[in-house]
Amino acid sequence: MDKTMISGARALEFLRQFDFIREAGTEGEHAAAEKIRKYLEQNVSGPGITFHEEPFSFEESRILEARLVVTEPYQKEYSVVGCAGCGSTPENGLEAPFLYVENGDEISLAYARGKIVLVNGIVRKAFYQKLVEAGAAGFVMLSGTPIDEGEDLRPARRSLRGVEETPIQGVTVHYKDAVELVERGASRVRLILRQEKEKRISRNLILRIDGSQRADEILTVSAHYDSVPEGPGAYDNMAGAVIVMELCRYFSVHRPRRTMEFLWFGAEEKGLYGSLNYVERHGEELASHRFNMNVDLAGQTIGGTVIGVTGNPEICQILSAYAHEAGMGVSLKHQIWGSDSNSFAWKGVPAMTLNRDGFGMHTRHDTAALISVWSLERSSRLLAMVAERLASAEVFPFPREVPEKFREELNVFFE
Ligand SMILES: [Zn+2]
Repeated sequence: MDKTMISGARALEFLRQFDFIREAGTEGEHAAAEKIRKYLEQNVSGPGITFHEEPFSFEESRILEARLVVTEPYQKEYSVVGCAGCGSTPENGLEAPFLYVENGDEISLAYARGKIVLVNGIVRKAFYQKLVEAGAAGFVMLSGTPIDEGEDLRPARRSLRGVEETPIQGVTVHYKDAVELVERGASRVRLILRQEKEKRISRNLILRIDGSQRADEILTVSAHYDSVPEGPGAYDNMAGAVIVMELCRYFSVHRPRRTMEFLWFGAEEKGLYGSLNYVERHGEELASHRFNMNVDLAGQTIGGTVIGVTGNPEICQILSAYAHEAGMGVSLKHQIWGSDSNSFAWKGVPAMTLNRDGFGMHTRHDTAALISVWSLERSSRLLAMVAERLASAEVFPFPREVPEKFREELNVFFE
């Protein structure tokens, strides 16, 4: 591998241009897509290299009003954020007894009928259905920690996904307010949540380099470039996006034998919408796909390198051998992964996600300040080496199959 072609310094310089929030379907994400497109236009070109964009739409709930008021035994309104995707209460809200049900265990929930319940943790699909079955009238989640101050006291924005019937509504309060609600013995509250659905547009960016000899076999290198609304997502995942850019530049000069596609996905944070749209649109062509190499969470100095492999176990051995050869520490994990690689594996294409443990994901602290040249360069080299070996192998070293066990887990994941 030509190491001089990979530059962590250049990657970091590029990443610093994206220190803004890129929530899917907003101006921020559109601006980021434009920057990536322009950068490709200026830096990656040649015969057999093509670029295109694939826009897609998705539905998002906009919160119009969210309120939580204690009416007994004291009167106080708390600062809350509405849970998106769980519908609206009647216009004037609903008033009901209030109860803390901790983790929603069977014993606590036996007292939940007709009550607005405070829960410890996040209400996702399964928990939501449990609360509905227990007859709860509404729910309050909590976010944050007891040591938060200032703007960190704002409750987190959360969404309920994958639930069609939404008979009950909920909001999020900050940890400190949850403590107060329990300690002051709030026994009756009024909950108001109003929201409406709107259509938003996101897009995937696709650069293809035709293979010189085995053009009918396709390898993909991918990362999402959107962020959560809480922060500018340098670690999650602009760092991954710039690593993919480094590889894209590399292979535009060191032309691969197999066809390679470099993919920047939008709307990952909304539920892998970008990669799901891609595998849907390219359904027929997926038969030619051999492997997806995804990057999600990268670039921080302190942390460990992990590769999650969703495919046959021998892929772990092969990747481990490459990492040994490169002398770069990595832990291999054989499992499904909560990122865009899952969309490929779900459709039968073996996939991996290169990942780095780190600090501050999905918070306002996830900025370029914690990203380093050293880490970006290391991860870029490791991934470039893996990609180069696979792109140039005489015979592809593992079959295009995903074990049944993972297919089943993925069916549950995407349900
Ligand atoms: Zn991510």
